Amino acid sequence: MNISFLGAADGVTGSRHLVDTGTQRILLDCGLFQGWKLHRERNWQPPGPLLQADAVVLSHAHLDHSGWLPALVAHGWRGPVFASPATCELAAVLLLDSAHLQEEDARRANRYGTSRHDKALPLYTRADAQRAIAQFVPLTPGRVQRVGGAGGATLKLTPVGHLLGACAVTLSAAGRHVVFSGDVGRRHDLLMPPPQTADLAEAADALIIESTYGNRSHPAEDATGQLAEIIRRTAARGGSVLMPAFAVGRAQALLLLVQRLKRQGTIPASLAVYLDSPMAQQATQLYLRHGALLRVPKAERASLCDGLRQVTSVAQSTRLSAKLAGRGFPALVISASGMATGGRVLHHLKAMAPDPRHAIVLPGFQAGGTRGARLVAGESEIKIHGEWVPVRAEVVQLQGLSGHADANELIDWARQLRQPPRQTFVVHGEPDAADTLRTRIQRDLGWAVRVPGFGESVAL
Ligand SMILES: [Zn+2]
Repeated sequence: MNISFLGAADGVTGSRHLVDTGTQRILLDCGLFQGWKLHRERNWQPPGPLLQADAVVLSHAHLDHSGWLPALVAHGWRGPVFASPATCELAAVLLLDSAHLQEEDARRANRYGTSRHDKALPLYTRADAQRAIAQFVPLTPGRVQRVGGAGGATLKLTPVGHLLGACAVTLSAAGRHVVFSGDVGRRHDLLMPPPQTADLAEAADALIIESTYGNRSHPAEDATGQLAEIIRRTAARGGSVLMPAFAVGRAQALLLLVQRLKRQGTIPASLAVYLDSPMAQQATQLYLRHGALLRVPKAERASLCDGLRQVTSVAQSTRLSAKLAGRGFPALVISASGMATGGRVLHHLKAMAPDPRHAIVLPGFQAGGTRGARLVAGESEIKIHGEWVPVRAEVVQLQGLSGHADANELIDWARQLRQPPRQTFVVHGEPDAADTLRTRIQRDLGWAVRVPGFGESVAL
């Protein structure tokens, strides 16, 4: 058996690990590279060995785990894509949106002549995304699925919190087991139950574990108080709060928090709350439809969207931007994308960033190289649509809402494997996070562990 680390090996994006069992090749995740230009350019490289995959398994729907699938399909790949039922549905929403953004980017590049090529082409189209979605095969967590004929590899999914539908993957072939964590969630997540571990392989030959927060421990304080404080402070000075949020998962957690704050009376019940992201609106419906997978009580699920102003058309969104740029009015706007790399949030950011009355609250992980990371780093101007925009609004990173396990939670999750894996590979982290988690696994668990390099292939 052989594992090639073809992404998320020197950063958090582009999760792709190709397992060669000797007779089959199974691709664990098919993620999009995001953030640094150096990483994003990898999206344009030919698929190489990925094209030889017999099947793809998606740990969850986030684009850094699923978003390159339509490109693979555009290169002619046809094969089954296994994922949990909720992941299949969420990924469909995310991939179509991603394709739409790719098409928009290409159109913009052609209009403004910013492409190095004669005619900019999208990385993939909505038709490619549709074709990829048609290849999905829902796999119920806990059930063993054989890939290919008799004697082929088997797959098993184990819920891992983090995001609706997210699972760890156990891939077994010829008596060997590879356990892939995907992204591990938290014990005390707002929406998702704690990661399950009972189902993982008895004895893993290889563990591939994420390390997004491998060098951090999440603060004990919960986000509720911090969010209430920012909203009150901003409203008092006549400003509005903009929250660039992942449309899937984070936006729903924020809606839940805001509803709770309103019910408690910590923020005015009359505060206008806008959800300006068609994808977040769609995802909210999916979350409610799969409500049984959440830890949110039924009554709270039923009232999640009460009083919510859902911005649907682009014209409505533009009007909202103009309103926010003009006289301030106390409002809370949740819009995507979560790292401000694209989407409607950019127009609001352009409108609100120059005004010190407003607040920009970043409630999620900001990958290096994104506008979100620049904002958190305190940069005094950011580039949006080729224009420099001064940042005078208050910028706050909201703590405690992360969907990712911190270092202690990752160690606790790994500890549940009944026997030490023969080899452990730390992936999906910025270099410092990955190396810190490696050290902890070595020290606390005494396991053989390493951080594989990008493109590295390791024999088991
Ligand atoms: Zn994720």
